[in-house]
Amino acid sequence: MSHPNFIETIENTFREISERKAEFTPRIQYREKGIVTHVSSGIALVSGLPGTGNEELLEFPNGLFGIAFNLDPDEIGVILLGPEDRLRAGDPVTRTHRIADIPVGEELSGRVVNPLGLPLDGKGPVVSSQRYPVERAAPPIMHREAVNVPLQTGIKVIDAIIPIGRGQRELILGDRQTGKTSIAIDTIINQKGKNVICVYCAIAQRSASVAKVISQLNDHGAMDYTTVVVTEGNDPPGLQYIAPYAATSIAEYFMEQGSDVLIVYDDLTHHARAYRELSLLLRRPPGREAFPGDIFYIHSRLLERSTHLNKAHGGGSLTALPVIETEAQNISAYIPTNLISITDGQLYLSPRLFDLGVLPAVDVATSVSRVGGKAQLTVYREVAGNLKLAYAQFEELESFMRFGTRMDERSREIIAHGNRIRACLKQPELNPVSVPDQIMLLLALTGGLLKNIPLEKIPEAERLLSQGSSRLPEELVRRIHSSEALKEVDKTFIFSVIQEILQPLVEDNLDFRDAS
Ligand code: ATP
Ligand code: MG
Repeated sequence: MSHPNFIETIENTFREISERKAEFTPRIQYREKGIVTHVSSGIALVSGLPGTGNEELLEFPNGLFGIAFNLDPDEIGVILLGPEDRLRAGDPVTRTHRIADIPVGEELSGRVVNPLGLPLDGKGPVVSSQRYPVERAAPPIMHREAVNVPLQTGIKVIDAIIPIGRGQRELILGDRQTGKTSIAIDTIINQKGKNVICVYCAIAQRSASVAKVISQLNDHGAMDYTTVVVTEGNDPPGLQYIAPYAATSIAEYFMEQGSDVLIVYDDLTHHARAYRELSLLLRRPPGREAFPGDIFYIHSRLLERSTHLNKAHGGGSLTALPVIETEAQNISAYIPTNLISITDGQLYLSPRLFDLGVLPAVDVATSVSRVGGKAQLTVYREVAGNLKLAYAQFEELESFMRFGTRMDERSREIIAHGNRIRACLKQPELNPVSVPDQIMLLLALTGGLLKNIPLEKIPEAERLLSQGSSRLPEELVRRIHSSEALKEVDKTFIFSVIQEILQPLVEDNLDFRDAS
């Protein structure tokens, strides 16, 4: 037996269908479909998609995507974002009407992903509600503010002599195996508990190096606030090329939420090479060192995205530490000079110092921080003000010493002081030093309290001072971390604590005051 309501429903449905039918006007909708004409390592040439936009994402069979790079009237040069081994000439290509993007958000913290946001850590898919395009415009000047908050690296030589501020771009450059990655990793590890979110972008690295970095970050509890974006040496050059832009989008999300963010690009030499490979394959005209003409632009538009936003725009910041590998200490090669001119300073790592065991091998004379000095904690300015000059003088004299030159009293003093500075600034990797510990050591050094301690006992002195820094009252530690200057009574108090701590190490038990 049929229910009256049921019949009514059916009648309504029929009526609705016939109404819709009357309204319907047939339309022709066309989809552009192109054809692959040529495939070679990392790129494909496509014909038949005349409406394609610049940098539009194109879809190939088997879930392979590519970015439209060269737009010629009858052919498009596409960089592929996956392996091309199953792609053949004659395969169909379709437009996606969108550009490459990547998931962003809190969910990315602690994850290891590739530049398309696909997980590499076996922890399941990255579920995030937001996506950002990999290429985004840099914040306009009116949204920016001067760099005025320090980014403590925990590395004594950097914090004291070449300070970095939040929102700064500081280049790390040096020959291979000089400790470039270690400086970046130490800086990330030192951000623990400091409300700085970190992104580490590995570009075309060996799997073993990436695995080492991830395990170091894990061992030091740094993965809780770090995202790792990875491309390896055998990944397609297209993927290597978009990696730093994608990593920056992940970092920008946090910056726009008002957080302070640190991003490491390790390294941009490989990025430049990937771009050169793509450009040569796409037959773009080569310039100096066979790099294409816009190589400066690809790095400047990347690093322009790092900045310090003003209060009206959340007050977040993005600090960038790009890494560049030099060849045979030639910092005036094409890519290093480009990057030096784009960034706000550089940390140069010298293989000579590395071989001498002066680690981290930061060459103070060649390194500079153009904006960080203004952001440095006031207390450093008091205790480390003339350290750079003294160290540079020492290095100059040291090179003369190699010729067996006889020294006058003044030069001998400079050498002795320089050796003490060097001993104090040495630091093993993965061992960040807190601000109060650094201040204790630097005060001991610049106040002449280490004069009567033999060089080989300086590490021991540093250890004792670090234990002793817990004796500083909480209020004093707060002032050290703030932008206030130290009061005279504070200094006298710290001096007395240092003297007491170092007393057992003094040779011949000389009185400190006489020595200084
Ligand atoms: P690559 O050119 O291969 O990328 P790199 O310049 O990044 O090398 P790292 O991998 O950071 O150099 O370091 C090279 C070696 O030096 C590593 O074995 C590392 O353990 C060691 N090293 C770096 N810094 C220090 C340090 N401060 N104290 C002791 N050893 C260090
Ligand atoms: Mg490295």
